[in-house]
Amino acid sequence: MTLLSVDEARGRILSHFQPVATEELPLMECAHRVLAQDISATTDLPPFDNSSMDGFALRVADLLDASPRSLRVVADIPAGLSPTISLAPGEAARIMTGAQVPQGADAVIPVEDTDFDDRDAGSRPPESVLISRSVKSGENIRTRGMDIHTGQIVLTKGRTLKPQDLGLLAMLGPASVPVHRRARVALFSSGNELLEVGAPLKPGKIRDSNSYTIAALIEDAGAEVIRLGVAKDNHESVEALLEKAAHLKVDMILSSAGVSVGAFDFVKEVIEANGKMDFWRVNMRPGKPLAFGEYRNIPFIGLPGNPVSAFVGFEVFVRAAIGKLNGSYNEGRPQIRVRCAEQIDSDGRESYLRAEVSEENGVMVAHLTGHQGSGNLHSLVQANALLIIPAGVKCVPAGQEVIAWFI
Ligand code: AMP
Ligand code: MG
Repeated sequence: MTLLSVDEARGRILSHFQPVATEELPLMECAHRVLAQDISATTDLPPFDNSSMDGFALRVADLLDASPRSLRVVADIPAGLSPTISLAPGEAARIMTGAQVPQGADAVIPVEDTDFDDRDAGSRPPESVLISRSVKSGENIRTRGMDIHTGQIVLTKGRTLKPQDLGLLAMLGPASVPVHRRARVALFSSGNELLEVGAPLKPGKIRDSNSYTIAALIEDAGAEVIRLGVAKDNHESVEALLEKAAHLKVDMILSSAGVSVGAFDFVKEVIEANGKMDFWRVNMRPGKPLAFGEYRNIPFIGLPGNPVSAFVGFEVFVRAAIGKLNGSYNEGRPQIRVRCAEQIDSDGRESYLRAEVSEENGVMVAHLTGHQGSGNLHSLVQANALLIIPAGVKCVPAGQEVIAWFI
């Protein structure tokens, strides 16, 4: 068995995945989809000069001597109308937030800085308004194009669309945009010891927790999950599920357990009957054995069975693979450098340790959470980060910084 670094293993895996097809989708359905094309602005934003306050549009030149000045109110401009008037010297227009600034006006004074304080709905504008302070040119005017210019690229291909991106796209106007379809990932667990949730525990049995953790991770990574259930530890049962996945023409098959070298680990031989299988030792902890191959030309990743190893394996290898399938350039968890609260001993493999990171006196500090064994899911639940201890490091002294991935 080859011993690979994490980076080598990830590189080999990623080389087997290509982005899935694209489709044109209505904006409302595009949240968390990956954009398949650069988007450039077809209009200036804002599209016209408009007021950022409820107040009076006026001419700054009328207020230059800074003494109180009464202006004649010649128009009332609500949001949504395009004013046809042009302000002459000594004139003002009542204007609402978001309404288009009339010709001739070069500033807006907020209503609270005038002698007119009737802000009730339906109130009529006054005949004249008294201004008792000077006003700067451009004050409270949001000018056309101050945010975005026509032709400017605002969102790039490969970006996973966030809610605020959809708002920006809506401002620009397209009713639909090209996005990648969501990758489809078939998932199964394997093991004679596994029970469905809800079933009473029996001697020697445990509940299938990986299906739940991993299915949710797949969705979190932006793919669609097709749950195939649990395979028994025999050739026929494993083969039946793999055939189902092949029939569904999924983009990836993911399994947990059954890929060690135990006497009951059948996944490897079934894959090899209709595809090929590489079995690697990756220089990492947890999750050293990693199965990777192809079943009827569909990429297959066999995660370890231990719940924490399966989680870490997903984060380190599968998340990036789903990202690539989905056409995304954005492949990882947010990461920062954090200070270790205690000394951490390691065995020289690249290690992913469960920790709780929080701010202490302005510094981000990491405390390991509980048992770090690969079956101790509780310590993963208590953690908000995985600390990465690089390969070759046997001891990280207290106070030293390491990289943390927020999970
Ligand atoms: P295996 O890779 O089949 O040797 O499994 C390694 C360990 O992971 C064993 O302790 C299994 O009982 C456990 N395990 C396997 N599959 C699951 C699962 N779906 N949910 C929880 N634990 C599992
Ligand atoms: Mg097993």
